[in-house]
Amino acid sequence: MEPAGTITIREKALKSIAGHHPWIFSGAVEEIPNGIEPGEVVDLIDHSGSFLARGFFNPDSQITVRILSFEKESISIDSFRERLESAYRMRKRLPEYGDSDAWRIVYGEADRMPGLVVDQYGDYLSVQFHSVGWERIKEDLCRIMTEVTGAKSVFDGSDEDMREREGLNCENRVVYGAELPERIEVSEFGRRMGVDVQNGQKSGLYLDQKFNHQRIVPFAKGRRVLDVFSYTGGFGLAALQGGCRELWCVDVSEGSERKIKENVDSNRFDSVPVTIRREDAFDVLRELEDSGEQFDMIILDPPAFCKRKSAVTKACRGYKDINRIAMKLLTPEGILVSCSCSRPLADDLFTRVLWQSSVEAGRDVSMLGYYGQGADHPILLTFPESKYLKCAIMQVT
Ligand code: SAH
Repeated sequence: MEPAGTITIREKALKSIAGHHPWIFSGAVEEIPNGIEPGEVVDLIDHSGSFLARGFFNPDSQITVRILSFEKESISIDSFRERLESAYRMRKRLPEYGDSDAWRIVYGEADRMPGLVVDQYGDYLSVQFHSVGWERIKEDLCRIMTEVTGAKSVFDGSDEDMREREGLNCENRVVYGAELPERIEVSEFGRRMGVDVQNGQKSGLYLDQKFNHQRIVPFAKGRRVLDVFSYTGGFGLAALQGGCRELWCVDVSEGSERKIKENVDSNRFDSVPVTIRREDAFDVLRELEDSGEQFDMIILDPPAFCKRKSAVTKACRGYKDINRIAMKLLTPEGILVSCSCSRPLADDLFTRVLWQSSVEAGRDVSMLGYYGQGADHPILLTFPESKYLKCAIMQVT
């Protein structure tokens, strides 16, 4: 993939490139030369003609160039194979690697493959091709991805909105190898979890929470647990494994009820009473508050309340409300696990919201641990956008 042309970068964007941020927005580009196809490789130069970086070009996206290298490094299928192997090696080196067969193998920019996300569920890969550069070499990429990971099939699980922003159509289907079963069963720290790659949320599971699921196991013994925004029960199953005495799961999505049941059965956790409510979590929390119900452990793992900076203030009110109610519902020494996957919500602000919730709830709360996304979703220091998940484990007194 020889560079198909050069693009001159405006003065104002040089600082971002010097800081190795991997995106070049359209406003940073002096002039788009003719004759370069979307998805081809281009070189970026400054006004004096000096080389700056090399990346995938897409004039149809706000992100005109996704940088692949800040050096004059050759870009080819072989170089992508090396990047893929390196990403895979990192996961395999994690001490927990053997405890699960579901991993994010490639996390886009953080693995030097901007716009590409690869999740492995045993023999199957769910891949998001969020850049036209990857689309052009999709077939070769699928081949090397299966070779490196040992998987048999690749499902295109691209996100419709993300593809649209790149000027691409979205077709979620198997693009390599055999069809996928509806329920793929994987292990998460020994817990059996069903994954519906084709119709589930995200790529099938919230892999970013896997380590946090595991963190709650030691707190669950003998407790009455409420898992709010439970999806297929990632936290709830961990609580059952930890020996909780009762579990409630609340999620509004269709199908999550059946999937939680299947997971409970498949793990033989069925001796513990499990209540599943397919309802709006805000309604259920308010109802529980009014009825004076009490739990010994509550998990709050809502969807992102804000996607943009402009919506952060409003989102904070939402976080404060659910956390205040949850704190009130907890018995003395109860455990609250509170998460946020809102990218623009910074750690310090999230912590401040939790503090305000505790004041309004009239409870003293101490933080026992504060975590983020799993190590298979690495945070690239030059790309703060790669950090988003927050998970606080707290105890109320
Ligand atoms: N805790 C899960 C992931 C939760 S993701 C895990 O660890 O696997 C957020 C979940 O919130 C989704 O499953 C979504 O269906 C659910 N959700 C979104 N809005 C909701 C609402 N108003 N009430 C209840 N559930 C909601």
